[in-house]
Amino acid sequence: MSDCLFCRIIEGEIPSKFVYEDETAVAFLDINPWQQGHTLVVPRRHVADALEDPTALAEITPAIGAVGNLLKKKLGASACNILSNAGADSGQEVFHLHVHVLPRYADNPGISNMRGPISDDLDQVHSRITAKR
Ligand code: 5GP
Ligand code: ZN
Repeated sequence: MSDCLFCRIIEGEIPSKFVYEDETAVAFLDINPWQQGHTLVVPRRHVADALEDPTALAEITPAIGAVGNLLKKKLGASACNILSNAGADSGQEVFHLHVHVLPRYADNPGISNMRGPISDDLDQVHSRITAKR
């Protein structure tokens, strides 16, 4: 869909910092992160949200797992929040299914400690996540 932001990112029309891709999904850094390394996992095919077509969520489950474990390994996170907003009243702003994967740490645990967007150097964290070792 040419008017969908995430379809355009998937097509490479809009630059983004990719950290993972496979046949069904891509993952890139959120431009306005709530945690360092905040990543969005997105199906290649256009689906508005996780309730419009729940099979799309199932299709990207391997990618979600790969990304969560990648963030734990590369950033030393001890845990991740994995969440997807479905519908405007949930807070969804981009209507192409995406799953937020948010690295978390023992010194700042739980949803109640996540207070909103942080300022972060996306190039620097992207280098850490995509480093070969
Ligand atoms: P939602 O509120 O729909 O669950 O989440 C949409 C997310 O997409 C937000 O966290 C927002 O920061 C992110 N976002 C919006 N526009 C862009 C963009 O152009 N590039 C990237 N990488 N993320 C975006
Ligand atoms: Zn789309």
